[in-house]
Amino acid sequence: MQPLIGDEVVVDKVDVIVIGAGASGLMCAATAAYRGKKVLLLDHANKAGKKILMSGGGRCNFTNMDAAPKHFLSDNPYFCISALNRFSPQDFVDLVDRHGLEYVEKTPGQLFCEHSAKDILAILLTELDWSGAELKLNTKVHDIEFQDKQTVLKTSQGEFACESLVVATGGLSIPTMGATGLGYDIAKQVGHSLLPTRASLVPITVQPDRKGQLAALSGIACDVSATANGVTFQEPMLFTHRGVSGPAILQITNFWQPGEALSINISPTLSLKDLFDIRQNTPKKSYEGILSALLPKRLVELIKVDFPWLTERSAQTSNEQVECLFQYLANFDISPNGTEGYRTAEVTLGGVNTNEVSSKTFESQKQTGLYFIGEVLDVTGWLGGYNFQWAWASGYCAGLHV
Ligand SMILES: Cc1cc2nc3c(=O)[nH]c(=O)nc-3n(C[C@H](O)[C@H](O)[C@H](O)COP(=O)(O)OP(=O)(O)OC[C@H]3O[C@@H](n4cnc5c(N)ncnc54)[C@H](O)[C@@H]3O)c2cc1C
Repeated sequence: MQPLIGDEVVVDKVDVIVIGAGASGLMCAATAAYRGKKVLLLDHANKAGKKILMSGGGRCNFTNMDAAPKHFLSDNPYFCISALNRFSPQDFVDLVDRHGLEYVEKTPGQLFCEHSAKDILAILLTELDWSGAELKLNTKVHDIEFQDKQTVLKTSQGEFACESLVVATGGLSIPTMGATGLGYDIAKQVGHSLLPTRASLVPITVQPDRKGQLAALSGIACDVSATANGVTFQEPMLFTHRGVSGPAILQITNFWQPGEALSINISPTLSLKDLFDIRQNTPKKSYEGILSALLPKRLVELIKVDFPWLTERSAQTSNEQVECLFQYLANFDISPNGTEGYRTAEVTLGGVNTNEVSSKTFESQKQTGLYFIGEVLDVTGWLGGYNFQWAWASGYCAGLHV
């Protein structure tokens, strides 16, 4: 870095400063440095990429081969299109292939590390090293001053000046991993508007009177369909000691908020007609036996509390009873209370208004030389590797312009 003599202090000057050494910041810093830019990547944490390390159950679901704009939520649904086209899942796969990463496709399109999320972070840090970008950890940003031709940052490690400042500070989820609202504060400082933020891809808690009953099911999972605001996900749901989690629940929290209607169908493949047909075709069989083939035993035990007649031969049941059972299964009562919040959420919905940022360069329309990338923007992906794909794509595209 070139020292600049200011009035009182020596200021190190670089072309680009990126705040946040997470997924998008690492990608952006390396891309810019490969172009010959002098890049300084700052993070207040003692380690880069902490969320990468804890992602995907420790194996990082690093992309989704089917990633398309429809998998992202934003006040401006068109904003993500350009970057997703310019840096595709295949582009990221090509990158990890060059490093010999071993990976697996768990469900169609969803790519995970074969061994550990550490492998993805190691690739990004290698790229950063090869690109010549400098990484400074344990660096707190105290103040940012936007001047005519440069931006000056006062930090716990001294003052730095740059032509381009990239904000890659992520969302608010998991504060213990280093999440802060700094990116939103910088956006507000230059007059950006923010879309309301809330924890998402997050477990749902249940109301106290239902919690006791459902806690007995803690640890078991079953396929459900979860529906809110006209959107349905058919994936597994997991009972926890606080409420419910698992892919179906995490996915629906992108579309559901406490107080709104949420419908959980615990036998999504079974129609009312199926239930009547079963009675017709196997009259000696009990509905308990039929449900036991479809649902975990402990869940059937819970259902029996409300439907003691389940143990009887199906031929002895009335149409009303069968209809009642169907309604119970199709609208299973989880009595949602709220969510576990930012403590366990994978992402933050909302953020910097994408109508005020260029979708090509990621430069702010309020402040020349200021860029926003990754999750700090109001762009949130579904569960399944989409959020990392957004981080790579936005980081790469901004890295080409800073
Ligand atoms: C438990 C968990 C599992 C996940 N699993 C997946 C998955 O498998 N697949 C997927 O696609 N997505 C997953 N995600 C989401 C994904 O991790 C994020 O969407 C992605 O990391 C966002 O990238 P980012 O660069 O915007 O922010 P981050 O990766 O969060 O990086 C932000 C960086 O900014 C730094 N920072 C914050 N505030 C400051 C400050 N004041 N000063 C300096 N530095 C600061 C942080 O320390 C951090 O290093 C998961 C998230 C969590 C929490």
